[in-house]
Formats: sequence, structure tokens, C-alpha cells
Amino acid sequence: MKEKNHTRPPLESLACVNLDCDLYGQKGGSNLIIRKVYGRDNIRYLRCRCCQQEFSERKNTALWNSKVPEDKAVSVAEHLAEGCGIKSTARLVKVDPSTVRRLNRKVGRHGQQYHEQEVQNVAVSELQADERHGFAGNKQQPAWEAELIDPASKFILAHVQGARDESLIRRLLQDGASRVRHPQEVALFTDGLAAYRTLFPEIFGYAYYPPRQGTRGPYPKARFRIPRTAAHVQIIKHQSGYRLKEIEIRYAHGSKKRIEQALDRLGYNVPNTSAIERRNGTARLMSAAQVRKTLAFAKKGEANVYDNLKVHR
Ligand SMILES: [Zn+2]
Repeated sequence: MKEKNHTRPPLESLACVNLDCDLYGQKGGSNLIIRKVYGRDNIRYLRCRCCQQEFSERKNTALWNSKVPEDKAVSVAEHLAEGCGIKSTARLVKVDPSTVRRLNRKVGRHGQQYHEQEVQNVAVSELQADERHGFAGNKQQPAWEAELIDPASKFILAHVQGARDESLIRRLLQDGASRVRHPQEVALFTDGLAAYRTLFPEIFGYAYYPPRQGTRGPYPKARFRIPRTAAHVQIIKHQSGYRLKEIEIRYAHGSKKRIEQALDRLGYNVPNTSAIERRNGTARLMSAAQVRKTLAFAKKGEANVYDNLKVHR
């Protein structure tokens, strides 16, 4: 069976992949020429006239070194992104489950690297955080995902996985803060988990060192000051059984005024974590391993989350 010819992106939209080349990563030049066309997808093998390096046009893409026809690989990724499981994807696209697993890992890793590269210096002033519960290995082993979302644009800034403890929250907040242009100007909305409250000053505040008392002994540890532009509010839901009894708003750090300013900007009346909770619902639909009230669980602890992040679209 002859595969259909793919419309290849114009050469101007590609760039040299040689890190040592003067034109590395620069699109729109005329340095790339086609050496040959190979494979059933008519992939172009390119040469850079600047550094003489030769490479496949698929280098540094999610499909590099993939033996699966392009339409099938793309279709696998699309099925996974819409929430199909590994086996159902394999049946629908008519490929082996091991192919789906391999592409899932590959596309996920590529998405992660893309996120790493693009999501830097982001100008956000409000963030919502939450943790999502699931299972990995079998239905008895809990696994958690924690995420930071910009409630204004619904963009997912950070995503971490692991046990639900302080180190999970630390990794989440540190990763998020490192991607924000001004972490000291963030209003953070979270649930009642104590780790958020204890870690907020360290990650979103300024460090200062109090002077040593006298001339002996260890230097005092760093302390943290919360600037006027940062604040943290916790939304704690008290339940009796399955019924929601009361919502407690706890202003953990910073001023109430800063939180009110954030609410104004977002068009909210009261502090809430609605954006991240909406995201939780969507994410559960998009990951077959996380659908609620089913026997669903991830066979391995590596659900491909970057597949359904906005950045990937
Ligand atoms: Zn080059």
C-alpha cells in the first residue's frame, strides 16, 4: 500500500540543529538545502551550508527516528490526547500497543522539553494550585499530580507528580516560581494543605539574614519577608460526610487588599480555586487512567500529561 504524500513544511520554517553553527535555530534563512528524500513519508535529509552538517528534518521533533508512518503516529498522539487508553488507541489506529506506549513516552518527553523551552519569564500575577488524586500500578497505590494554573488564561504553568507530601508542593511551587517573571508579585490561591502556607514565604518572598548576636556561634538562618505585592489565600472546604458544610477563607500571607485586587482582576466575588478545579475535571477526562468511579489506574506512573497541556496545541 502506498502511503499518501505529506505536505512538507517549507524549508524557511526549519533551522539548523547543530549547536555549534552560527545559524543554529535561526529560521527563515537560505542555508538549508535538500540532500535527499527518503522513507515512505518522503522525509527530507538536509544539509546546512553554513556548517556543512547533515541531518534529518525530523531531528529535534517528536517523530525523530520513528518507523511508524506519519499519519499513524499523529493519529496515535491525537487519540491519546483525547483520553483514549493505550489499548483502545492501538485497536483504533491498528498498531501494536507497544508502538502506542513508545510514542506516548516520546511525545510526552518532547512536550515536556517544549514546555521547558517555551514557558519562561511568564507575566502572570495570579496562580491557583491543587493536587489531583489517581492510582498507579494498581488500584491500591495512590499517585498524585499537582498543578499550577494561571486563572486568567487557564494556562498550566507547572505540573509535578509523586506522593502527596511537602516535597511535591515544594517542587510544584519552585518550578512555577522559576517560570514567572516576578514571583514576588504573585497572589496564590490554594487548598488548605499546610505545606503551601509554610513554603510560600521561602519561594515567593524575599530572603534576608538577621545580624548575628555577638561574635560567636553560627550565623542566623535566612528569614523571609512577604512583599506587599505578594499574597497567599487558602480556601478550605469543611465537609460532613459527602456534604459540603462550610468554606473557610484563610488569609495565610500578605494583605487582604492584594487578594481583593486579584479578585477584581479575575472578576471573582470570593477567593476560590475554580480554574484549577475545572482543569481537574478536564484532565480526568483526558487521561483514561484517571476517570473517576471506575477501575481505572495507570499501569505505570508516567501518565502522559504534557499531551493535553495547552502549550502543546
Ligand atoms: Zn548549520
